[in-house]
Amino acid sequence: MKVTVVGTGYVGLVTGACLAQVGNQVLCVDVDADKVARLRAGEVPIHEPDLPAIVQEGIVSGRLCFTTDIAEGVTHGDFLFIAVGTPPDEDGSADLRHVLAVAGDIGRHLQRPVTVINKSTVPVGTAQKVRARIAAVLQDRAADIVFDVVANPEFLKEGAAVADFMKPDRIIIGTDNGAAAERMRVLYAPFNRNHDRLIVMDPASAELTKYAANVMLATRISLMNELAGLAERMGADIEQVRRGIGADPRIGHAFIYPGCGYGGSCFPKDVRALEYGARQHGFDVPLLAAVEKVNNRQKQLLEQKVVRALSEDLTGKTIAVWGLAFKPNTDDMREAPSRILMEALWRRGAYVQAFDPVAMDEARRLYGEQCALRLCLDPYAACEGADALVICTEWQQFRSPDFARMRSLLRQPFIVDGRNIYDPASVRAEGFTYHAIGRP
Ligand code: NAD
Repeated sequence: MKVTVVGTGYVGLVTGACLAQVGNQVLCVDVDADKVARLRAGEVPIHEPDLPAIVQEGIVSGRLCFTTDIAEGVTHGDFLFIAVGTPPDEDGSADLRHVLAVAGDIGRHLQRPVTVINKSTVPVGTAQKVRARIAAVLQDRAADIVFDVVANPEFLKEGAAVADFMKPDRIIIGTDNGAAAERMRVLYAPFNRNHDRLIVMDPASAELTKYAANVMLATRISLMNELAGLAERMGADIEQVRRGIGADPRIGHAFIYPGCGYGGSCFPKDVRALEYGARQHGFDVPLLAAVEKVNNRQKQLLEQKVVRALSEDLTGKTIAVWGLAFKPNTDDMREAPSRILMEALWRRGAYVQAFDPVAMDEARRLYGEQCALRLCLDPYAACEGADALVICTEWQQFRSPDFARMRSLLRQPFIVDGRNIYDPASVRAEGFTYHAIGRP
């Protein structure tokens, strides 16, 4: 089948590469000429496990191509995916500028019937807006071309995006048109083989499903973080509590890890966007507001723990930071707790020595000129002469470090563990002062 994917970010590139991998002829379009040039050369601009291999395979096979020419993109595909960003506006709403710009482009260049598929995370009603925008432009052209708009939100996780796309938990298809649903079923058949994961529903429900999933997960995290704060004050250990409640199958073990707050490009913006959507409908959503409030407070916790142990004024102090990405296996630093921490430390006069296995380029792009930051080649170099080590991301390689070496490098043997990756008794036995989240 001929597929066009507009937007080659985490979602678009994975979608395009996976659809090419199973045999489709895929053309990916992006406005970012530099990104397209790198992709054409087989260079994947983001860190995503397994993605470089399938992108290169797609290019070599001729099934995966890249262009900046939207007219070429619209002409190519029978399926036109929209996978552009929907960043938060200042008021928290999802900014639909890019999505609607692509809809306009589709209207301008459409020559034959197609299925337009919206993969971006968008507020309820956007499928209708996309349809209206395309229809309006077609009308201006006096072109009578049939098209469908399907809401098909994406549930992949950064860091496991290819695996998630290839073996999805569910494929949500939002459409009222049976024929469009059937076309989507055929397109997704290679990813839907051992049992039927395709769930067809109306577009509004499909759009809300994506937000509902993200706010559910964000709520679990914020609730655990709130309980961690209580545990700390009551002399309990949230890790014991986590194991205790996770054993209940109604609760389960997934997504109940306390930490230094959720980040990334999805949870923070999607919680805010749904809150905004609720306000538009005059409906009070105190729970969503609390989820966000708890998360914002949690993101300040690491700084508070450092200040409590060292001093309010951190001038002349050096803080080592392990982990910059918002979670392991990605280089994405959007809304990462590490950023809140480092920016707070800088405001207090501290110098930061940081290490992340894959997000160093991203950190350089974000903070290149920041003279109070040294990006170190390995985790131990970051510890050298530091007054404290703060762990922001639970990368595997941080889990079992050489504590004796760390102690000899750190000026003060002080660890703030924002992800509870160590056993407190063992770390203390190694001679460290150790503070974690919600643990005595
Ligand atoms: P991203 O910022 O990584 O990529 C978006 C891409 O779209 C960029 O390369 C940008 O240049 C391109 N673009 C913007 N306007 C364009 C236009 N008019 N024409 C062509 N290209 C254009 O974004 P992302 O993380 O891939 O997210 C895309 C959407 O998917 C968002 O709505 C997001 O909420 C949603 N989503 C993201 C994830 C995730 O884990 N990142 C998961 C599920 C859903």
